[in-house]
Amino acid sequence: MGVKIYIDLTKYKENLNYIISLTKKKNINLAVVSKVFLSENPLIDVINESDVLFIGDSNISNFKNIKTNKKKMSLRISSLNDVKEVVNLVDISLESELEVIKKLNEEAKLINKVHEIILMFDLGDLREGLYYSSSYIEVVKEITKLTNIKLRGIGTNLTCYGGVIPDKDVLSRLENIKEKIETNLNIKLDIISGGNSSSIYLLENNELPSFINNLRLGEVLVLGRETAFGKRVAKMHDDVFMLEAEIVELKKKPSYPDGNLGMDAFGNKVNITDQGLMKRAILNIGRQNVNSNHLITTDGSEIIGSSSDHLILNIKDNNYKIGDKIKFKLTYGGILSLMSSNYVEKVYEK
Ligand SMILES: *Cc1c(COP(=O)(O)O)cnc(C)c1O
Repeated sequence: MGVKIYIDLTKYKENLNYIISLTKKKNINLAVVSKVFLSENPLIDVINESDVLFIGDSNISNFKNIKTNKKKMSLRISSLNDVKEVVNLVDISLESELEVIKKLNEEAKLINKVHEIILMFDLGDLREGLYYSSSYIEVVKEITKLTNIKLRGIGTNLTCYGGVIPDKDVLSRLENIKEKIETNLNIKLDIISGGNSSSIYLLENNELPSFINNLRLGEVLVLGRETAFGKRVAKMHDDVFMLEAEIVELKKKPSYPDGNLGMDAFGNKVNITDQGLMKRAILNIGRQNVNSNHLITTDGSEIIGSSSDHLILNIKDNNYKIGDKIKFKLTYGGILSLMSSNYVEKVYEK
Protein backbone atom coordinates (compact mmCIF):
# COMPACT_ATOMS: atom_id res chain seq x y z
CA MET A 1 0.00 0.00 0.00
CA GLY A 2 3.09 2.23 -0.07
CA VAL A 3 3.01 3.34 3.54
CA LYS A 4 6.50 3.33 5.02
CA ILE A 5 8.13 3.72 8.39
CA TYR A 6 11.65 5.12 8.04
CA ILE A 7 14.14 4.10 10.70
CA ASP A 8 17.34 6.12 10.96
CA LEU A 9 20.00 3.80 12.36
CA THR A 10 22.59 6.57 12.74
CA LYS A 11 20.23 8.64 14.88
CA TYR A 12 19.39 5.60 16.99
CA LYS A 13 23.08 4.94 17.45
CA GLU A 14 23.69 8.56 18.49
CA ASN A 15 20.84 8.36 21.02
CA LEU A 16 22.23 5.12 22.42
CA ASN A 17 25.77 6.48 22.67
CA TYR A 18 24.54 9.59 24.43
CA ILE A 19 22.68 7.58 27.08
CA ILE A 20 25.64 5.23 27.48
CA SER A 21 27.88 8.24 28.15
CA LEU A 22 25.43 9.49 30.81
CA THR A 23 25.08 6.12 32.53
CA LYS A 24 28.71 5.04 32.39
CA LYS A 25 29.78 7.90 34.61
CA LYS A 26 27.49 6.45 37.29
CA ASN A 27 28.59 2.85 36.80
CA ILE A 28 25.19 1.90 35.52
CA ASN A 29 24.88 -0.89 33.00
CA LEU A 30 21.95 -1.04 30.63
CA ALA A 31 19.31 -3.35 29.37
CA VAL A 32 18.35 -1.82 26.04
CA VAL A 33 14.63 -2.47 25.61
CA SER A 34 13.81 -3.46 22.06
CA LYS A 35 10.13 -4.42 22.33
CA VAL A 36 8.86 -1.28 20.56
CA PHE A 37 10.72 -2.35 17.42
CA LEU A 38 10.08 -6.08 17.86
CA SER A 39 13.83 -6.69 18.27
CA GLU A 40 14.37 -6.25 14.54
CA ASN A 41 17.96 -7.12 13.64
CA PRO A 42 19.11 -3.86 11.94
CA LEU A 43 18.51 -2.07 15.26
CA ILE A 44 19.83 -4.99 17.30
CA ASP A 45 23.05 -4.69 15.25
CA VAL A 46 23.46 -1.13 16.50
CA ILE A 47 23.11 -2.37 20.08
CA ASN A 48 25.57 -5.20 19.35
CA GLU A 49 28.24 -2.61 18.53
CA SER A 50 27.88 -1.01 21.96
CA ASP A 51 29.07 -2.38 25.28
CA VAL A 52 25.66 -2.66 26.98
CA LEU A 53 25.11 -5.95 28.79
CA PHE A 54 21.49 -6.84 28.07
CA ILE A 55 18.80 -6.68 25.41
CA GLY A 56 15.32 -6.67 26.91
CA ASP A 57 12.07 -7.63 25.21
CA SER A 58 8.67 -8.50 26.63
CA ASN A 59 7.65 -10.88 23.82
CA ILE A 60 9.90 -13.89 24.16
CA SER A 61 9.10 -15.03 20.62
CA ASN A 62 11.03 -11.96 19.39
CA PHE A 63 14.17 -13.59 20.81
CA LYS A 64 13.90 -16.45 18.31
CA ASN A 65 15.13 -14.31 15.41
CA ILE A 66 17.52 -12.07 17.26
CA LYS A 67 21.23 -12.20 16.39
CA THR A 68 23.26 -11.00 19.33
CA ASN A 69 25.96 -11.89 21.80
CA LYS A 70 24.31 -9.75 24.50
CA LYS A 71 22.48 -11.38 27.38
CA LYS A 72 18.77 -11.70 26.58
CA MET A 73 16.40 -10.39 29.22
CA SER A 74 12.69 -11.24 29.29
CA LEU A 75 10.79 -8.25 30.67
CA ARG A 76 7.26 -9.54 31.02
CA ILE A 77 6.94 -11.75 34.10
CA SER A 78 6.65 -15.31 32.85
CA SER A 79 3.40 -17.23 32.68
CA LEU A 80 3.28 -20.89 33.70
CA ASN A 81 2.83 -21.73 30.02
CA ASP A 82 5.97 -19.86 28.99
CA VAL A 83 8.53 -21.37 31.35
CA LYS A 84 9.98 -23.80 28.81
CA GLU A 85 10.48 -21.12 26.16
CA VAL A 86 11.85 -18.70 28.74
CA VAL A 87 14.64 -21.00 29.94
CA ASN A 88 15.43 -22.01 26.38
CA LEU A 89 15.36 -18.59 24.72
CA VAL A 90 16.60 -16.12 27.32
CA ASP A 91 19.40 -15.83 29.86
CA ILE A 92 17.61 -13.81 32.50
CA SER A 93 13.99 -12.94 33.25
CA LEU A 94 12.08 -10.59 35.52
CA GLU A 95 9.89 -12.59 37.89
CA SER A 96 7.54 -12.10 40.83
CA GLU A 97 5.78 -15.42 41.58
CA LEU A 98 7.44 -18.23 43.52
CA GLU A 99 5.23 -20.81 41.82
CA VAL A 100 6.47 -19.73 38.39
CA ILE A 101 10.07 -19.51 39.54
CA LYS A 102 9.87 -23.12 40.80
CA LYS A 103 8.62 -24.21 37.37
CA LEU A 104 11.46 -22.31 35.71
CA ASN A 105 13.81 -24.22 38.01
CA GLU A 106 12.35 -27.57 36.88
CA GLU A 107 12.61 -26.65 33.20
CA ALA A 108 16.17 -25.36 33.64
CA LYS A 109 17.10 -28.63 35.34
CA LEU A 110 15.84 -30.57 32.31
CA ILE A 111 18.25 -28.79 30.00
CA ASN A 112 21.05 -28.63 32.53
CA LYS A 113 21.11 -24.87 32.66
CA VAL A 114 21.13 -22.28 35.41
CA HIS A 115 18.46 -19.69 34.66
CA GLU A 116 18.99 -16.22 36.08
CA ILE A 117 16.21 -14.05 37.46
CA ILE A 118 15.67 -10.56 38.75
CA LEU A 119 13.02 -10.50 41.44
CA MET A 120 10.64 -7.61 40.90
CA PHE A 121 9.36 -5.39 43.70
CA ASP A 122 6.34 -3.10 43.51
CA LEU A 123 7.27 0.19 45.20
CA GLY A 124 3.72 1.52 45.01
CA ASP A 125 3.02 1.87 41.28
CA LEU A 126 0.82 -1.26 41.52
CA ARG A 127 2.31 -3.08 38.59
CA GLU A 128 4.28 -6.33 38.79
CA GLY A 129 6.34 -7.27 41.83
CA LEU A 130 6.21 -8.29 45.48
CA TYR A 131 4.72 -5.39 47.40
CA TYR A 132 7.49 -3.49 49.14
CA SER A 133 5.84 -3.57 52.57
CA SER A 134 4.88 -7.27 52.42
CA SER A 135 6.87 -10.04 54.12
CA TYR A 136 9.07 -11.20 51.26
CA ILE A 137 12.09 -12.66 53.05
CA GLU A 138 10.60 -16.17 53.15
CA VAL A 139 9.98 -16.03 49.39
CA VAL A 140 13.54 -14.98 48.69
CA LYS A 141 14.81 -17.74 50.97
CA GLU A 142 12.85 -20.32 48.97
CA ILE A 143 14.29 -18.96 45.71
CA THR A 144 17.86 -19.22 46.96
CA LYS A 145 17.29 -22.93 47.69
CA LEU A 146 16.50 -23.71 44.03
CA THR A 147 19.41 -25.48 42.36
CA ASN A 148 18.93 -24.21 38.79
CA ILE A 149 17.84 -20.66 39.49
CA LYS A 150 20.30 -17.89 40.20
CA LEU A 151 18.90 -14.80 41.85
CA ARG A 152 21.01 -12.08 40.22
CA GLY A 153 19.24 -9.17 41.80
CA ILE A 154 16.10 -7.15 42.35
CA GLY A 155 14.27 -4.64 40.22
CA THR A 156 11.33 -2.31 40.00
CA ASN A 157 9.15 -0.69 37.39
CA LEU A 158 7.73 2.77 38.04
CA THR A 159 5.56 5.29 36.15
CA CYS A 160 3.96 2.42 34.33
CA TYR A 161 0.53 1.74 35.70
CA GLY A 162 0.01 4.08 38.64
CA GLY A 163 2.18 6.90 37.37
CA VAL A 164 4.37 6.90 40.48
CA ILE A 165 7.47 8.97 39.74
CA PRO A 166 10.83 7.59 40.85
CA ASP A 167 12.31 9.87 43.49
CA LYS A 168 14.59 9.50 46.48
CA ASP A 169 11.78 8.47 48.85
CA VAL A 170 10.27 5.83 46.58
CA LEU A 171 13.66 4.42 45.59
CA SER A 172 14.79 4.24 49.23
CA ARG A 173 12.16 1.50 49.54
CA LEU A 174 14.19 -0.54 47.05
CA GLU A 175 17.41 0.17 48.94
CA ASN A 176 15.79 -1.09 52.18
CA ILE A 177 14.74 -4.27 50.38
CA LYS A 178 18.27 -4.81 49.08
CA GLU A 179 19.78 -4.36 52.53
CA LYS A 180 17.18 -6.50 54.25
CA ILE A 181 17.68 -9.39 51.80
CA GLU A 182 21.47 -9.15 51.90
CA THR A 183 21.72 -9.11 55.70
CA ASN A 184 18.96 -11.62 56.44
CA LEU A 185 20.09 -14.20 53.91
CA ASN A 186 23.78 -13.37 53.82
CA ILE A 187 23.86 -13.07 50.03
CA LYS A 188 24.98 -10.37 47.64
CA LEU A 189 22.61 -9.05 44.99
CA ASP A 190 24.71 -7.91 42.06
CA ILE A 191 22.03 -6.29 39.89
CA ILE A 192 19.78 -3.56 41.23
CA SER A 193 17.59 -2.67 38.27
CA GLY A 194 16.11 0.66 39.26
CA GLY A 195 13.72 1.51 36.48
CA ASN A 196 12.95 2.60 32.92
CA SER A 197 12.98 5.84 30.93
CA SER A 198 11.20 7.63 33.79
CA SER A 199 14.49 7.53 35.74
CA ILE A 200 16.39 9.58 33.15
CA TYR A 201 15.55 12.90 34.80
CA LEU A 202 17.24 11.67 38.00
CA LEU A 203 20.30 10.80 35.98
CA GLU A 204 20.36 14.23 34.31
CA ASN A 205 20.01 15.97 37.69
CA ASN A 206 22.64 13.77 39.26
CA GLU A 207 20.08 12.42 41.72
CA LEU A 208 19.94 8.72 40.89
CA PRO A 209 20.83 6.87 44.12
CA SER A 210 24.17 5.09 43.79
CA PHE A 211 22.88 1.67 44.90
CA ILE A 212 21.12 1.40 41.51
CA ASN A 213 23.45 -0.15 38.92
CA ASN A 214 21.08 -1.09 36.08
CA LEU A 215 18.35 0.65 34.06
CA ARG A 216 16.09 -0.90 31.45
CA LEU A 217 15.63 1.74 28.75
CA GLY A 218 13.41 1.74 25.69
CA GLU A 219 11.48 4.93 25.01
CA VAL A 220 14.26 7.42 25.73
CA LEU A 221 16.40 5.75 23.07
CA VAL A 222 13.78 5.82 20.32
CA LEU A 223 12.24 9.23 21.12
CA GLY A 224 14.83 11.20 23.09
CA ARG A 225 12.24 11.74 25.82
CA GLU A 226 12.23 10.92 29.51
CA THR A 227 8.90 9.57 30.67
CA ALA A 228 8.43 10.92 34.20
CA PHE A 229 7.41 14.36 32.90
CA GLY A 230 7.54 13.78 29.13
CA LYS A 231 10.40 16.22 28.53
CA ARG A 232 12.79 16.13 25.59
CA VAL A 233 16.34 15.16 26.49
CA ALA A 234 18.74 17.74 25.06
CA LYS A 235 21.09 16.45 22.35
CA MET A 236 18.84 13.50 21.52
CA HIS A 237 16.83 12.80 18.35
CA ASP A 238 13.03 12.57 18.41
CA ASP A 239 12.82 11.50 14.77
CA VAL A 240 14.57 8.13 14.65
CA PHE A 241 11.24 6.66 13.45
CA MET A 242 9.16 8.59 10.88
CA LEU A 243 5.98 7.58 9.09
CA GLU A 244 5.43 8.40 5.43
CA ALA A 245 1.97 8.22 3.88
CA GLU A 246 0.57 9.37 0.54
CA ILE A 247 -2.14 11.85 -0.39
CA VAL A 248 -4.98 10.04 -2.18
CA GLU A 249 -7.60 12.79 -2.11
CA LEU A 250 -7.25 16.56 -2.03
CA LYS A 251 -10.37 18.76 -1.90
CA LYS A 252 -11.79 21.92 -0.42
CA LYS A 253 -14.72 20.87 1.78
CA PRO A 254 -16.75 22.27 4.65
CA SER A 255 -15.26 21.41 8.07
CA TYR A 256 -18.65 20.63 9.59
CA PRO A 257 -20.62 17.54 8.51
CA ASP A 258 -23.87 18.12 6.63
CA GLY A 259 -26.76 16.04 8.04
CA ASN A 260 -27.96 14.64 11.38
CA LEU A 261 -25.02 13.42 13.47
CA GLY A 262 -24.80 9.97 15.14
CA MET A 263 -21.70 8.00 15.97
CA ASP A 264 -18.44 7.57 14.05
CA ALA A 265 -17.13 4.18 12.84
CA PHE A 266 -15.69 3.43 16.29
CA GLY A 267 -18.84 4.14 18.31
CA ASN A 268 -17.72 7.56 19.53
CA LYS A 269 -20.00 10.56 19.56
CA VAL A 270 -18.93 13.00 16.88
CA ASN A 271 -17.65 16.30 18.26
CA ILE A 272 -16.59 18.69 15.51
CA THR A 273 -16.27 22.48 15.46
CA ASP A 274 -17.17 24.43 12.35
CA GLN A 275 -14.11 26.17 10.92
CA GLY A 276 -15.64 27.04 7.56
CA LEU A 277 -14.19 25.78 4.27
CA MET A 278 -11.00 23.80 4.61
CA LYS A 279 -8.25 22.39 2.34
CA ARG A 280 -8.47 18.72 3.27
CA ALA A 281 -6.15 15.89 2.30
CA ILE A 282 -6.92 12.22 2.73
CA LEU A 283 -3.93 9.91 3.20
CA ASN A 284 -3.66 6.17 2.71
CA ILE A 285 -3.26 5.19 6.35
CA GLY A 286 -5.92 4.53 8.97
CA ARG A 287 -6.75 3.24 12.40
CA GLN A 288 -5.97 -0.33 11.36
CA ASN A 289 -2.32 0.76 11.24
CA VAL A 290 -2.11 3.55 13.80
CA ASN A 291 -4.34 5.79 15.89
CA SER A 292 -4.13 9.34 14.54
CA ASN A 293 -3.47 10.61 18.11
CA HIS A 294 -0.07 8.98 17.79
CA LEU A 295 1.00 11.01 14.74
CA ILE A 296 2.75 14.39 14.91
CA THR A 297 2.73 16.60 11.81
CA THR A 298 5.93 18.35 10.74
CA ASP A 299 4.50 20.64 8.02
CA GLY A 300 2.02 22.73 9.99
CA SER A 301 -0.95 20.60 8.93
CA GLU A 302 -3.59 19.69 11.49
CA ILE A 303 -4.78 16.14 12.03
CA ILE A 304 -8.57 16.06 11.80
CA GLY A 305 -9.13 12.37 12.43
CA SER A 306 -9.13 8.97 10.84
CA SER A 307 -11.26 6.03 9.78
CA SER A 308 -10.00 2.44 9.57
CA ASP A 309 -8.35 3.14 6.23
CA HIS A 310 -7.89 6.89 5.84
CA LEU A 311 -6.30 9.80 7.67
CA ILE A 312 -7.81 13.27 7.23
CA LEU A 313 -5.61 16.37 7.40
CA ASN A 314 -6.32 20.09 7.29
CA ILE A 315 -3.34 21.04 5.15
CA LYS A 316 -3.81 24.80 5.68
CA ASP A 317 -1.42 26.76 3.39
CA ASN A 318 0.58 23.76 2.19
CA ASN A 319 0.63 23.28 -1.57
CA TYR A 320 0.29 19.58 -2.22
CA LYS A 321 -0.83 17.49 -5.14
CA ILE A 322 -2.25 13.97 -5.37
CA GLY A 323 0.53 11.43 -4.85
CA ASP A 324 2.64 13.68 -2.61
CA LYS A 325 4.07 11.99 0.46
CA ILE A 326 3.84 13.46 3.94
CA LYS A 327 6.11 12.55 6.84
CA PHE A 328 5.09 12.42 10.49
CA LYS A 329 6.93 12.13 13.76
CA LEU A 330 5.52 9.52 16.10
CA THR A 331 4.68 8.90 19.73
CA TYR A 332 5.77 5.69 21.46
CA GLY A 333 2.35 4.16 20.82
CA GLY A 334 2.62 5.15 17.16
CA ILE A 335 5.98 3.44 16.71
CA LEU A 336 4.66 0.35 18.50
CA SER A 337 1.59 -0.06 16.32
CA LEU A 338 3.31 0.79 13.02
CA MET A 339 6.23 -1.56 13.67
CA SER A 340 3.71 -4.29 14.55
CA SER A 341 1.62 -3.74 11.42
CA ASN A 342 1.95 -6.08 8.46
CA TYR A 343 0.74 -3.33 6.15
CA VAL A 344 3.62 -0.95 6.74
CA GLU A 345 6.99 -1.31 5.00
CA LYS A 346 10.06 -0.84 7.20
CA VAL A 347 12.85 1.14 5.58
CA TYR A 348 16.18 1.19 7.40
CA GLU A 349 18.51 4.09 6.62
CA LYS A 350 22.14 4.45 7.65
C1 LIG B 1 8.98 -1.79 28.51
C2 LIG B 1 9.70 -2.01 29.78
C3 LIG B 1 10.78 -1.17 30.12
C4 LIG B 1 11.23 -0.01 29.26
O1 LIG B 1 10.43 1.11 29.53
P1 LIG B 1 10.68 2.49 28.75
O2 LIG B 1 9.75 3.44 29.41
O3 LIG B 1 10.38 2.25 27.33
O4 LIG B 1 12.11 2.85 28.97
C5 LIG B 1 11.47 -1.45 31.29
N1 LIG B 1 11.08 -2.46 32.10
C6 LIG B 1 10.05 -3.26 31.81
C7 LIG B 1 9.69 -4.36 32.74
C8 LIG B 1 9.32 -3.06 30.65
O5 LIG B 1 8.28 -3.86 30.36
